[in-house]
Amino acid sequence: MATSTKLLISKPVNIWMNDEPMKVEDTQTILQVARNHGIHIPTLCYLDEITPTGSCRICVVEVEGFPRPVPSCSTFVKEGMKIHTNSPKIQAIRKVIVELLVANHEMDCLYCERNGECELQDLAKIYNIRDHRFLGSKRQNPLDQTSMALVRDPNKCILCQRCVKVCDEVQSVHAIDVTKRGFESIVTSAFGKTIHESSCVLCGQCVRVCPTGALKERDVSTEVREAIDDPNTIVTVQVAPSISVTIGEEFGFPIGTDVSGKLVTALKRMGFDAVFDTVFGADLTILEEANELIKRITENKTLPLISTCSPGWIKFMEHEYADLIPYMSTCKSPMSMQGAIIKSYWAKNQQIMPKRIFQVAIMPCMAKKFEADRSELVNDGLPNTDAVLTTRELIRAIKKFGLDLKSLPDSKYDDPLGESTGAGKIFGASGGVMEAALRTAYWLVNKKNLEHLEITQVRGIEGIKRAKIQLTPELTVNCVAASGLKNARIICDEIRAGNPNNYHFIEIMACPGGCINGGGQPRGMDLEVIKQRAQALYKLDEQYTIRLSHENTAVQRLYANFLKTLGSNEAHHLLHTHYYPRSERRH
Ligand code: SF4
Ligand code: SF4
Ligand code: SF4
Repeated sequence: MATSTKLLISKPVNIWMNDEPMKVEDTQTILQVARNHGIHIPTLCYLDEITPTGSCRICVVEVEGFPRPVPSCSTFVKEGMKIHTNSPKIQAIRKVIVELLVANHEMDCLYCERNGECELQDLAKIYNIRDHRFLGSKRQNPLDQTSMALVRDPNKCILCQRCVKVCDEVQSVHAIDVTKRGFESIVTSAFGKTIHESSCVLCGQCVRVCPTGALKERDVSTEVREAIDDPNTIVTVQVAPSISVTIGEEFGFPIGTDVSGKLVTALKRMGFDAVFDTVFGADLTILEEANELIKRITENKTLPLISTCSPGWIKFMEHEYADLIPYMSTCKSPMSMQGAIIKSYWAKNQQIMPKRIFQVAIMPCMAKKFEADRSELVNDGLPNTDAVLTTRELIRAIKKFGLDLKSLPDSKYDDPLGESTGAGKIFGASGGVMEAALRTAYWLVNKKNLEHLEITQVRGIEGIKRAKIQLTPELTVNCVAASGLKNARIICDEIRAGNPNNYHFIEIMACPGGCINGGGQPRGMDLEVIKQRAQALYKLDEQYTIRLSHENTAVQRLYANFLKTLGSNEAHHLLHTHYYPRSERRH
């Protein structure tokens, strides 16, 4: 049997799959060949992005001459192989595998968040599981509800290890593993720590790939509903830049369709008092961050400047690279900046007591729930954000409210915190913060705008994108945008090794590809989908009348009437913060 370490020098081979002759490359697995030829083989543990474990065995196939069925995900094709993917014997084996999983599963589908979109449920349906053939004791492990963001239910875990592999191979956090043996096996953090006590950064990438309801976000939609129903509370909501091009997928729109207008209508119908665009907060972040970058360069201060918009990345840095904290930008994320402005500037303009405001954020990210709970993100005794709903929670809430996004008319975001630019919109893709900040940094030093606004070197879904951007004849800024924590680790190690690439500016996003692939987005890990979502954001940028954060007229008025100047004391009070090593913190 071949392994995944096989050298990738390919040779054509002749095989037969379900009696059909095929000429294929011997670097392909049986599963890959089947998929390329439209033959469906079920999988549970397999994901394109990670090393196959072959642990679930649901993808077994028969190969003539082999003593027993083999896992198709980790077996490479060989000359002359005769493969049967769906023989009666294979169907019987798969049925028993599913029956055994079901026998040791807490079957409370009616109460389960994954009811109707669960891969185990789908298989039980396909293999016509109608009774409990295997009766016996079931695992009874406690739910881990210790985290602000993530809930783990070990009794719904089928030990496929997708989460473990994603955490190791994609994120390099190594926060979880399978421990104990046989019936006692369980996925847990090192030394049996709870999620809250562990080094988990709450990125949610494991949740996106879990086939069952064993991993999920902490759902706060009931708390939000209660706030909306309270007549004494003003409930505002802001929507992150990437959401408008991802949420439509769950309502039958083609991938990448921008549904901003319909989303605003849905949120208003659900009872939110004001609906704002987080792109406004992104524009604000850009002005403060570009100003910070130019100051650090021109005043010979600490470089590189590392962006701090991604809460999973911040937590990772606090756990593992606390010595790099001085490089971090002091700018809060767009969500927290916008929350601080809603409870100060907007509240003052509307003559509302800030403590009456309940500020909700719709985010692509599970770690934003953790960000909202941070003590550093509080102003004048009030948290910048009161509740965070992920895209998935909002999808469920919209459906529960009986709204069909497709048939809703368009509405506009509320002013003045609804005015936005193309620069802020591209925050949703990896490299977007950097591109937007460089557009404004150029203007800050040259007092004119870049001729070509597209900084294509930092676009695309590659994990690490390096660029040299000439701001003036004397100043070339060395930049790198990394996404996925495995890539963040590479860049952090470079900085520790003395910054050999002489970076001035670093953007890091915890999730591969950025927020369009955030841990709170619709489930799945299809790279094509991520690419199309990113392209949709760049297309929207081109369609905006204003494509530069410093030209956002509502942001300009905010400075003129309230914050005064970039980096002012007022701006520092509301828009900036500092981070601390995790070892010095309570949580
Ligand atoms: S994880 Fe799937 S099979 Fe298990 S209870 Fe939830 S919906 Fe049912
Ligand atoms: S928690 Fe989910 S992804 Fe992880 S092993 Fe269990 S079922 Fe698989
Ligand atoms: S949330 Fe992220 S860091 Fe935590 S276990 Fe999942 S993949 Fe690992």
